[in-house]
Amino acid sequence: MENTDLAPLRAQIDVLNLELLALLNQRIEVARKIRDQKRLLGQPLYDPERELKMIAALVQANPGPFPHAAVAHLFSEIARATVEHLEGTERRSLLVSRKAGEADRSFAVGPHRLGDAPVLIAGPCSVESEEQIFSTARFLASRGVRFLRGGAWKPRTSPYEFQGLGKDGLELLVAAARESGMACVTEVVDPRHLELACNADLLQVGTRNMQNFELLKELGRCGRPVLLKRGMASTLDELLNAAEYIVSHGNPHVALCERGVRTFEKQTRNTFDTSAIALLRQLTPLPVLADVSHAAGRRDILAPLGRAALAAGAQGVMLEVHPHPAIARSDAQQQLDFPAFDAFLTALERPLTTLDARAP
Ligand code: PEP
Ligand code: MN
Repeated sequence: MENTDLAPLRAQIDVLNLELLALLNQRIEVARKIRDQKRLLGQPLYDPERELKMIAALVQANPGPFPHAAVAHLFSEIARATVEHLEGTERRSLLVSRKAGEADRSFAVGPHRLGDAPVLIAGPCSVESEEQIFSTARFLASRGVRFLRGGAWKPRTSPYEFQGLGKDGLELLVAAARESGMACVTEVVDPRHLELACNADLLQVGTRNMQNFELLKELGRCGRPVLLKRGMASTLDELLNAAEYIVSHGNPHVALCERGVRTFEKQTRNTFDTSAIALLRQLTPLPVLADVSHAAGRRDILAPLGRAALAAGAQGVMLEVHPHPAIARSDAQQQLDFPAFDAFLTALERPLTTLDARAP
């Protein structure tokens, strides 16, 4: 068929489309009247039995050539979209989605800020003793680090492993951070700890709790900034929806943290997902950070991962630092000692390699 023969056929399709569109809008007006009647009668709008009967009748009346299954699918989609529209539950864009042209969001965390220039969040996996956390805070502050991390309530795989110092650990962390002018971050695992945990400047939701929706709702009400880590097997949509729980419950101050996802690879604890960082920076204006220690599960590749995170757009890098990693009570294999942290810092400050193609 010649291209010129297509034009009149396409014109016919265009006319039919407009007729279908007019009918769909006419249909929704009738459905609106049904909704109003049902409201008066106190009946729910959605009636699955009526929908089943309506679709069965349409399939029976279908002369083809449209297949019955397609007819059933199309009409159930029309019914679903109608109910959603009339109930006002149409899928909206998320509060955490980046709107066209929207700038990055940033917010205060204790005496410092997240979401502006890239920051480092460093400190031990767990708070273990006064000496350990104070010496770490003093060392990190002397290197310009503004955020001190340290777990007080530890979500451990085995119930027989060190579970953290709890309230005592939190008090030590806060005191060490205050002395060194740092902001501190600790993980919350239980809504019952929240009141106490709010003494910290930033509340972390760990990978195991990313979809603990009751915890997320409480964090939405708590008024402290939140660092939400990506679930170890969570998609970016799931991460953004988890953030939406917090924001829609009243707390706009949420930062997201890529920390590696589970894959078949055994050489690393998780597989660090740099594309997640680049995509999250497009999808949301919330600050996006990267935890290289829990991604790698080892200490020898933290510098390249940190550089990759920053190159992908991360606004912060988290890593574990301990004065004596060999005797750490959790994650001993991945924490950096002080000299190794200095080497990490030097590597991060090095400019990215010039491409061959750009070399003079
Ligand atoms: C942590 O940061 O202490 C931690 C347990 O991390 P994740 O939840 O990412 O494993
Ligand atoms: Mn750890």
